Amino acid sequence: MGSFSYSFFRLKNTIFFRIFMILFLSSITHRMNLCSNLPLADPSLPNLGSSYVLSSLKTIHLDGHFNFDNIYHAANDFGNRHHYLPSAILHPKSVSDISSTIKHIFEMGPATELTIAARGHGHSVQGQAQAHRGVVVNMESLQAPKTIVHTGKMPYADVSGGELWINILHESLKHGLAPKSWTDYLHLTVGGTLSNAGISGQAFRHGPQINNVYQLEVVTGKGDIITCSETQNADLFYGVLGGLGQFGIITRARISLEPAPKMVKCF
Ligand SMILES: Cc1cc2nc3c(=O)[nH]c(=O)nc-3n(C[C@H](O)[C@H](O)[C@H](O)COP(=O)(O)OP(=O)(O)OC[C@H]3O[C@@H](n4cnc5c(N)ncnc54)[C@H](O)[C@@H]3O)c2cc1C
Repeated sequence: MGSFSYSFFRLKNTIFFRIFMILFLSSITHRMNLCSNLPLADPSLPNLGSSYVLSSLKTIHLDGHFNFDNIYHAANDFGNRHHYLPSAILHPKSVSDISSTIKHIFEMGPATELTIAARGHGHSVQGQAQAHRGVVVNMESLQAPKTIVHTGKMPYADVSGGELWINILHESLKHGLAPKSWTDYLHLTVGGTLSNAGISGQAFRHGPQINNVYQLEVVTGKGDIITCSETQNADLFYGVLGGLGQFGIITRARISLEPAPKMVKCF
């Protein structure tokens, strides 16, 4: 009886401890957010006034447009736990829309406290693609130029950072080719998964998706449009790959392809 009640209490303590740790850890993740798009109010900076900052955005010449009203969906993601409302959403139609917007905000200086976040398909779970009172760049608006497949000995595809992997698969299959490395779920954007890693069954053979990129076009935090690869601006290349959107916005990527298998085994 004694040993029964001892093990019973030990079991209860263990369960209590586990529940406590789950609650404790989930409260930490609630407060700690690894993305730097969250409010960072600095009292030493002069307040430029949000209406002034926002109306200045309207002066930027764009191929696409800003949305200041229909912004609520950009405060949601797949995790549905973090909801940071932006002040505006940029729907870029060109890379220069993204560059001009970032340049404009950068030149206004840190006093604006305006942050920018690229949003792919919004499948993050911790608000990583959100920008509290900032600007969310809706990368799915940037789907031009379309995916271009290059055949040959080392085939590759040039794709938009806002393109979904499912569309790249369909396009490359027309040439009997397919990307080497995948995610299991294909309704994710190129920029979204290359900012993380992009992992699936083929990662054991080819590495994650970030190992299968030849070149990137990136808009930096100053608004410069830079091409980078293993041999050209390599620091930027390796910073952006797996960089959680903190080193620049991927606007185009050169993805390595291989002959598409006739059949696959999925389990
Ligand atoms: C149902 C589901 C299935 C999943 N399956 C897999 C899987 O099989 N394998 C796997 O590896 N992962 C998987 N994931 C995780 C997924 O890869 C990541 O959450 C990914 O970031 C989501 O891509 P997204 O296009 O929705 O990006 P978002 O959630 O919109 O953005 C993710 C991050 O990338 C940044 N970002 C977005 N676009 C750009 C860009 N163009 N340039 C720079 N930064 C950018 C954002 O600011 C943010 O920090 C899955 C997630 C879900 C919800």
